[in-house]
Parts: sequence; C-alpha cells; structure tokens
Amino acid sequence: MIGSLVADYLTDAIQDAASDTSGSLAEYIPELANARPQNLAAAFAMADGTVHGAGDVDVPFTIQSISKPFVYALALAERGFDEVLRKVGVEPSGEAFNQISLEVGTGRPFNPMINAGALATHALIGPSGGDAHERAQRVVDGLSAFAGRRLVVDESVCSSEMETAHRNLAIAHMLRSYGILEEDPRAVVDGYIRQCSVLVTTRDLAMMAATLANHGRHPLTSEQIVDESVVRQVLSVMATCGMYDAAGDWVTQVGIPAKSGVAGGLIGALPGQVGIATFSPRLDRHGNSVRGVNLFHRFSSDMGLHLMSVPPASRAVVRSHRIVGDGADVIRVLQLQGGIRFAGAERIVREVADASPGEHTVALDLTLVSSIDDVAQRMLVELARRLTIDGCRVILIDPESVVSETHLADAGSIDVVPRLLLASADEDRLTARM
Ligand code: GLU
Repeated sequence: MIGSLVADYLTDAIQDAASDTSGSLAEYIPELANARPQNLAAAFAMADGTVHGAGDVDVPFTIQSISKPFVYALALAERGFDEVLRKVGVEPSGEAFNQISLEVGTGRPFNPMINAGALATHALIGPSGGDAHERAQRVVDGLSAFAGRRLVVDESVCSSEMETAHRNLAIAHMLRSYGILEEDPRAVVDGYIRQCSVLVTTRDLAMMAATLANHGRHPLTSEQIVDESVVRQVLSVMATCGMYDAAGDWVTQVGIPAKSGVAGGLIGALPGQVGIATFSPRLDRHGNSVRGVNLFHRFSSDMGLHLMSVPPASRAVVRSHRIVGDGADVIRVLQLQGGIRFAGAERIVREVADASPGEHTVALDLTLVSSIDDVAQRMLVELARRLTIDGCRVILIDPESVVSETHLADAGSIDVVPRLLLASADEDRLTARM
C-alpha cells in the first residue's frame, strides 16, 4: 500500500489522460497505422532500478526516434566528440523531424534528433566502411545494453517502413552527395530503419532513460554504458532538439530532456533523479504523442521536475558552525552536509574567511556530506592549503572518503580523520585524537 504511492499517482494520471482521444496514428508507416490507439502507459525508473508503472507498461512497440539519443551516445563513445561533430551539428532546426535540409556551408545535418542527423549518426557506429548488417546489429546490441535486456527487431514494422522510406532515402542520398555519408545510402537507411524497429516496452524505455539520468550507468546491471561526458552531451541535445519543432515550448514548460517516437513512446531523463517513459500511439502535428506530452506536463508541474527549478544549494551546506573545547584544544568545527557543488563550496570558503579564525585548529566535518563534485573538492582543498599557510592546523573529518586522494595530495599538511573523538561525555569538549 505505502510502497505503491508513486504507482497509484501514475494510475490516477493515466486515468485522467485517457479521456483525450485527439491526435492520429503515424500512418506513413503502414504497420504503425494498425497500432491499438487506446494503449496507454507511464513508468518511472529510479536510480536504484526500482520501476513504478501504471497501464500497459509491458506492451511492446517500436522504439522509432527514441533510439536516436542512444545511438548518438554510442557514436560519441566510439568515435569521440570531434569526429561526430564534424558530421552532425547540435543546433535545433525548428523544423519537422523528416525535413530535407542541411546546414549551409558544412552540409551537416542540424542535429542528431532529426532524421538527417540520425542517419549520419547511424553510419558512425562500428568501423568506418564496415558491413551494414554488422553495424545494425551493433546498434541493436547497444540499445539492449541501455535497456539491460536483449532487444529484438519487429521485422514486420521494419519491412513495412522500408517499403515507404522514400523520404529517408532522399535525405540519405542528399547526405551522400555532401560527403557526410560515405556509405551506400540505401544500406544506411536500411540499418537506420532496423534501429527504429527495435521493440521496447514502456518499462524498458523508463530504464533506458534512467541510465541517462544515472550518468550513463545502468541502474540494475551497474554497467557503465557510456561516459558521463557523453551523457551530458546527449541530454543537452535532447533538451534543445528532442521534441522536434516543439522543442522551445517543451524546454520552457516541461523542462525535462526528452525524446519522442512516432510509435507513441516518449522518454524524459532528469539527471540525478529519474527516467520517465510514457506510451500512447496517437500523435499531434509535430509527431509527438498527445497523451504523452500531457502526462509529462503534469509530471513536471506536480513533482517539480523542471530542470531549471533547483533547490538553493548554498544556504544549506553549513549545518553548524561551532567553537568547541577550550585552552590549547579549542577547535572551530564546521559541520557540512548534503551535496556540495560550486555555490556550496563558495559559501563554506566565505564562512571561514568571514570568521577569520583566531583558533589554532579548524575542522571541516564531512560526515553528513553525500556528494562533493570536483570543483568543490578543489575549493575546499585550496581553503585548507591557505589556512595552513596562515598557521592553522586543518582537520578534515571524512569517514567515507568523499574527497579524493588526488585532491588531498595538493592540500599540503592537513589531517584527515574518520571522526573527532570525544574526550569526555560533554559534546562540547571535543579533542582531536589521531
Ligand atoms: N522511423 C521513423 C522515421 O524515420 C522515426 C520517426 C520518429 O519516430 O519520429 O521516419
């Protein structure tokens, strides 16, 4: 009962969303026109792999364009940023997903989320000049790694789309004529359509999105599928280009990096928090799922998921600031807490600087610190180094080693201890024993 709190919320949300029967199925792919329009599902996958779901979460459908950010991630991981950026830009096009247009001058597709960019990205998987079938299989393997289970291609959707792929073929030929594609355009379209025809469920998509939200590490298999730097690039492109020509509306109103697909899937990845997926096949004029878009609007406002709404990090990092002990044993102790990033570290540095400690010993207690990013570590280490230059003894209470050895090496002579031991039962009479 208690455990189903989030699932109950999702059940309510999809019941409300079900009444909207507007939009239409993607008829340009004949097989998709046969989809069951009333299908509806929503799932949240958390960073520890827990999935909360409601509705048809285990009904399979083809991934379509939701494959694009994942294949972009695989291309970045395999080829590196420079090579990928030479072939595919990162600018929102403001155009429909299947627009036949390229950047003036370079001939690059505007971004990897429109078909032109996705075709060029697909061709970057595997060795250049490699076999097209092996490339497509490598893409399916990569998507499977993100899902955490072996995914398969829906052969009937795949052949159905190939029969009517004139537009994608036109785009691929255009890319070939600009030298963005060096392979046979037909083979690339073939592979790209296989990529789009991979079967997933809403549960799979939530898990794939959670892998992006979880800095590239799969929540259940713990496999680091791609680097954190790749994930940052992918989420940035999703935020600005993921919803086609509705990207501006999306980022302002929903504020979750997202990607939709014409079979009715929609994913959102909120870094550090949650992977979200919805499924409902009727599409709006942009090609995005009508009910999916509505559900994401609701999730974002009900649960404060907008990327730009972040809690004030700096005010809360210093939990207490006390002088303890007496005589020669007097210590200034700053107890820090939570996640510390730049603004939090700046606050700590300023608090110490404003106090201009007269005490011989300053202790920074990191026991309650859950995370501290690279810049914050460097700032605290530099603070410690400067204090020691001023003649202070600095103690870092760091029981879980949240500050890395590499940073500590730059700190000069500071004492790192797991805890400050009490000399007596009196909490305020602390003595450091090392
Ligand atoms: N396979 C589809 C196409 O290339 C994907 C489009 C989409 O999902 O937006 O036309």
